[in-house]
Amino acid sequence: MEDVDAVVVGAGVVGLAVARALALAGREVLVLDAAEGIGTETSSRNSEVIHAGIYYPAGSLLAKTCVEGKHRLYRYCAERGVPHSNCGKLIVATTEEEAGRLEGIRARAAANGVPDLRLLTRAEAVAMEPALSCTAALHSPSTGIVDSHAFMLALQGDAENAGAVFAFHAPVARGRATETGIEIEVGGAEPMALRARLLVNAAGLHAPALARGIEGMPEGQVPTAYYAKGNYFTLAGRSPFSRLIYPVPVPGGLGTHLTIDLGGQARFGPDVEWVDRIDYAVDPRRGDSFYAAIRRYWPGLPDGALSPGYSGIRPKIVPPGAPAQDFVVQGPATHGVPGLVNLFGIESPGLTASLALADHVLAATGALHAT
Ligand SMILES: Cc1cc2nc3c(=O)[nH]c(=O)nc-3n(C[C@H](O)[C@H](O)[C@H](O)COP(=O)(O)OP(=O)(O)OC[C@H]3O[C@@H](n4cnc5c(N)ncnc54)[C@H](O)[C@@H]3O)c2cc1C
Repeated sequence: MEDVDAVVVGAGVVGLAVARALALAGREVLVLDAAEGIGTETSSRNSEVIHAGIYYPAGSLLAKTCVEGKHRLYRYCAERGVPHSNCGKLIVATTEEEAGRLEGIRARAAANGVPDLRLLTRAEAVAMEPALSCTAALHSPSTGIVDSHAFMLALQGDAENAGAVFAFHAPVARGRATETGIEIEVGGAEPMALRARLLVNAAGLHAPALARGIEGMPEGQVPTAYYAKGNYFTLAGRSPFSRLIYPVPVPGGLGTHLTIDLGGQARFGPDVEWVDRIDYAVDPRRGDSFYAAIRRYWPGLPDGALSPGYSGIRPKIVPPGAPAQDFVVQGPATHGVPGLVNLFGIESPGLTASLALADHVLAATGALHAT
């Protein structure tokens, strides 16, 4: 059995950010991923939005890591030449009732450390985005978009430069907590057995299953995994908007919003479809309900302009209808297993929050001060 100082399971954006932070802190790091490369699951199936940190409950880990992560992500992208755009977003009200809720959204954002939201009249909003129909809007200037793959490549590069080693086609099958570390069995083409002083479970959708497979991890501390698929529909031609357009949020989701990629391609979604298994196929019939929702703020949407795009699956740890969950960074202080950190429920804004989340993981292990 080979001994490794720190093993990170999962090379999505969060696992990569954690691996980078550990390596930069001087730890010996091995990253294991079941897939053939970095970011093949949720990290490449999202909206690539740099979220401002508007809607989350004040004081939550979601709010804290999103706001801190946003600032760090902009700085990191600028320093490392990662393509991104601070394009901003409009939250648009299409009824007087919705307009009355904008001030509450602005106040919540301010409580989260996002003080720059500005209320716009209909005329001000339409001056910014002429294709828009609304009664009033909120402008979020710190929202943006990022090339998530370029970001992940930069994180991987940093980690490797600091000595981290990556192994792909390396699924972690199970583990066992011992007094000297966590023993893990790695399957795949070259099966191996390792003992890690620190094991970070950043397995995304599979994190609860992996935690459950570690002997010694208290079963009661492992949440049930629920999958909430989000389907996207893409728009033919270039985006008629230069900013992201979001309706006033609806219970359980952000509504049918428009995001753009760095190439100017617009997509609508993601919607919310609770599923029992991981299947990324997009059912074209789900697009039917998109038209009416989009035309509330963009009446010019032509018939037949939407095509099925792609989908991602939110790694939920609460069932449909339950109040939204916070990010869970679960270390030994919670579950009692030395050297194990589990990351559960890292859905949106995990991409934005990743650099800040990594520090929380290190703090949960004391790893920041280990060397
Ligand atoms: C529809 C959707 C839209 C989103 N939009 C945004 C957005 O616009 N902005 C934003 O900030 N966030 C967004 N998010 C959230 C963001 O995408 C995620 O929080 C983030 O990608 C999670 O990264 P991760 O590294 O935790 O997980 P993942 O990217 O899923 O990575 C997990 C990795 O673990 C590996 N793995 C799993 N099990 C094992 C095992 N047993 N052994 C070895 N390897 C294993 C997998 O192969 C995978 O590579 C969105 C999420 C969804 C679903």
